[in-house]
Amino acid sequence: THLINQIAAGEVVERPASVVKELIENSLDSGADRIRVDVEQGGTRRIRVTDNGAGIEADQLHLALAPHATSKIADLDDLEAVASFGFRGEALASIASVSRLRLASRPADAQSGQAIEAEGGTLSEPQPAGMPTGTVIDVRDLFYNVPARRKFVRTERTEFGHIDELVRRLALANMEVGFELFHDGRAVRRLAPVADQAGWLRRVSDVCGQGFVEQALELERDHAGLRLSGWVARPAYSRSQADQQFFFVNGRLVRDRLVAHAIRQAYRDVLFHGRHPAFVLRLDLDPRRVDVNVHPQKTEVRFRDGRLVHDFLFSTINQALAETRP
Ligand code: ADP
Ligand code: MG
Repeated sequence: THLINQIAAGEVVERPASVVKELIENSLDSGADRIRVDVEQGGTRRIRVTDNGAGIEADQLHLALAPHATSKIADLDDLEAVASFGFRGEALASIASVSRLRLASRPADAQSGQAIEAEGGTLSEPQPAGMPTGTVIDVRDLFYNVPARRKFVRTERTEFGHIDELVRRLALANMEVGFELFHDGRAVRRLAPVADQAGWLRRVSDVCGQGFVEQALELERDHAGLRLSGWVARPAYSRSQADQQFFFVNGRLVRDRLVAHAIRQAYRDVLFHGRHPAFVLRLDLDPRRVDVNVHPQKTEVRFRDGRLVHDFLFSTINQALAETRP
């Protein structure tokens, strides 16, 4: 099964940022509202994620690293309603098969923590570990036993860039959670948990820059069961890269052609050729009106009434932009 895990790992674990993604999503699933990410050498040497979530019972620690051990799907209906994140219950097993992993956890009702280690598919016995409530997962030497995969890892800077980008996205999608990101011991981002509307704006400013927030137009519109809210940049703020485009559907970040098209159309007459609009938007609707592709790497959606969604996005944004004209 070790080999099978390694093969599965190829799907889940493409690069250091994929590990960070799985670990943070697990922390979010566990109800944590403080998540700290420590990375060394772009994540190739070490990735450690610390959370203050519900933790794992000592007798479940082994299971957390076993394939298909998910505790998150109760029945088929759950599968259908997976509005949530990875559900396949093998991310940790996959990561453990291609790294040296230590999992330490302490549930709220436990006197102390317990830790297990995995290396090359072998699990150690649990050892007591002094720690506060929550979970710490420490992943060292990613791909140490998979040279073919290691070849695809880029420079530390590039890999860290992917990690930072991921943390930015997850931080926008999960405003009520505090995030910290450290690279080689240096604090790169400190994002306080958001409690109110003012905090929302601060989070957007932390992630997209003060310059974005200062000029952005705020949107809020309800129509036919669709609700769009957030910020779009004025045309003058447009960018040479599409690096500030955040669109959430029911709290989940998506990149979707229909959405991209609607927004591009709304900006069509006001943007110079080759420039990209910046936006942070969320669309909320009945989950039954949208299919989210649950493949872990993908963020595609399919709207039941695509035409309606397209026109709603287009007209709301277009109108907001029109009002800025003299
Ligand atoms: P999945 O998230 O799809 O269930 P994973 O392999 O990512 O599968 O995790 C396996 C299991 O380990 C989870 O279902 C959960 O029970 C437990 N787990 C993993 N990370 C955490 C965490 N940070 N806090 C609490 N439980 C966790
Ligand atoms: Mg998971």
